[in-house]
Amino acid sequence: MLMAYMTWHEVKKHISEVNDNLIIPVATCEQHGYHLPLGNDTFIAEYMAGILSQRTKALVAPTMNYGVNLPCDVHLAGTTSIKPETLREMIISITDWWRQQGFRHFLLLTYHGDPFHLQAMKDISDDIKLYDLSEIEYSDILERQASIRHACEAETSVALYLYPEKVKMESVREHDIPFDDFRKYLFHEAGDLPEGYVGSLGYPSFATKDKGSRIIARMIDRMIDECYDFLKP
Ligand SMILES: [Zn+2]
Repeated sequence: MLMAYMTWHEVKKHISEVNDNLIIPVATCEQHGYHLPLGNDTFIAEYMAGILSQRTKALVAPTMNYGVNLPCDVHLAGTTSIKPETLREMIISITDWWRQQGFRHFLLLTYHGDPFHLQAMKDISDDIKLYDLSEIEYSDILERQASIRHACEAETSVALYLYPEKVKMESVREHDIPFDDFRKYLFHEAGDLPEGYVGSLGYPSFATKDKGSRIIARMIDRMIDECYDFLKP
């Protein structure tokens, strides 16, 4: 259930009678190569938040639409970033009000793996839990990659399963950069455009809807395992 569609009085009643925990999707506005939209991580975080809400009856807060992105992505139009401390401060500010109204636990749900994005949301307080949806085992589902990269075989498969109408497979441009060569970009130590970088890493041309359905099923299972107790009323 989306809190944005409810009145304050309905929210108050939900807190006292149904579930006093809150799911906060934390998205990002980030390029995803030539074939996926900037909202990719947003759509997936919101989809998963909806499933978790159905299972637990915890409300879903309005999505935080901006997150922390790689400095090298400044060269790819539309992408933007906030500072890690801004993200952290925003979470502290909004949960401070909600806590005073009776919300007890806050689950930050993200599908965006930038290390500084994740770090900014870790260990804020005991009643705030960060959950990274992308952290599952991929090796038995993917053919060409061993793990998730970016706008890759895994992410593109998920997109093909959840919103095929927005995926432009005919526009895929593939140029993989090995992890060690990309490391300085991933850890924000370099902000130039990496040689040959097209915005995706890995092998999106190997993506299929079927792999996406298996990845999503596994993501749901792990999310329920890891988050259900935290969101119990
Ligand atoms: Zn992504």
